[in-house]
Amino acid sequence: MFGLIGHLTSLQHAQAVARDLGYPEYADQGLDFWCSAPPQIVDTIKVTSLTGETIEGRYVESCFLPEMLATRRIKAAIRKVLNAMAHAQKNGIDITALGGFSSIIFEEFHLYEKSQVRNIKLEFERFTTGNTHTAYILCAQVEQGAKKLGIDLSKSTVAVCGATGDIGSAVCRWLNTRTDVAEILLTARNQERLQALQDQLGRGKIMGLEEALPQADIIVWVASMSKGIDIDASVLKKPCLLIDGGYPKNLATKLQHPDIYVLNGGIVEHSLDIDWKIMQIVEMKDPGRQLFACFAESMLLEFEKWYTNFSWGRNQITVDKMEKIGQVSIKHGFRPLVNVYPQLPKTKHFG
Ligand code: NDP
Repeated sequence: MFGLIGHLTSLQHAQAVARDLGYPEYADQGLDFWCSAPPQIVDTIKVTSLTGETIEGRYVESCFLPEMLATRRIKAAIRKVLNAMAHAQKNGIDITALGGFSSIIFEEFHLYEKSQVRNIKLEFERFTTGNTHTAYILCAQVEQGAKKLGIDLSKSTVAVCGATGDIGSAVCRWLNTRTDVAEILLTARNQERLQALQDQLGRGKIMGLEEALPQADIIVWVASMSKGIDIDASVLKKPCLLIDGGYPKNLATKLQHPDIYVLNGGIVEHSLDIDWKIMQIVEMKDPGRQLFACFAESMLLEFEKWYTNFSWGRNQITVDKMEKIGQVSIKHGFRPLVNVYPQLPKTKHFG
């Protein structure tokens, strides 16, 4: 059995979901309530592969909210992740993806040192960050999205915002070795880590966001931001493809220009309907088929019976592992989102 540990994008979102699900007493509660709420299994999932095999999984809502980090309620955030992991393990889930901020909190606050959760000793090999599949899908979106828009990668500049992160660094490694992209711009805050990445790649320009954005034909957003930021469309190249891989989404949807294309990054579409309810809650456009690539990674590990923490630690994702997970992703019927949504006349949204 596979599992997915997820969370909602904001307090407001959590209150709206509680209202929709018929829990008005939760809908009026503030952050303190969510800080003390325990994890819960809220959905049972069935997925059928293109091979015909069907697997079953569980969705564990951790009750974490990004505002816990923004308001420095670190202990609460840590408790949410550890309790959700213990809950998954206690319920016999073999392989569970740590979605959204769960894996970031796990790494940032060294939760590998905290394996004892009450009477449960966490077995870390039963968890995966899902970041290898996410990085693979983002790179596929760069390549396929560019092709759709007629952007020639060999003449293009790609800016990676959050380049030194687990996903961002993997995207840079793939772009560097598996594509003929002309230039890679590396953006993050910590200069030492940027320098180390540049040394590892043997190329790439380190740049602040303000300098990088106007130069980029394609922008990949994988910064771990607890809320979205506004970008001034007038400074961007036209056309420009923005691939927003953050959760919550890093980019505000206000960005409006006919030659700016925003693509939902790190999202896959399955070839067959998935039997679940949860993606309606996280506002996917086609909730029967679309999901986060990190969640799909735990499904892939279950299909292949690779009961191992396939993605673990920080900045260890190799292009070989990306290729390996990419092959089974295709085999079982997942594909990156690169669809155009023409109903939005000003900002053209893919995916
Ligand atoms: P990491 O914590 O490993 O990396 C985050 C990166 O963002 C670092 O380079 C960091 O560098 C940079 N960063 C953080 N804050 C800022 C800021 N304010 N301005 C500029 N750069 C910043 O995160 P991951 O690689 O694990 O995840 C990245 C994003 O992808 C997250 O939003 C996560 O929720 C999302 N995600 C999506 C998935 C999906 O399935 N679609 C799956 C997993 C994650 P520095 O601190 O030096 O600035």
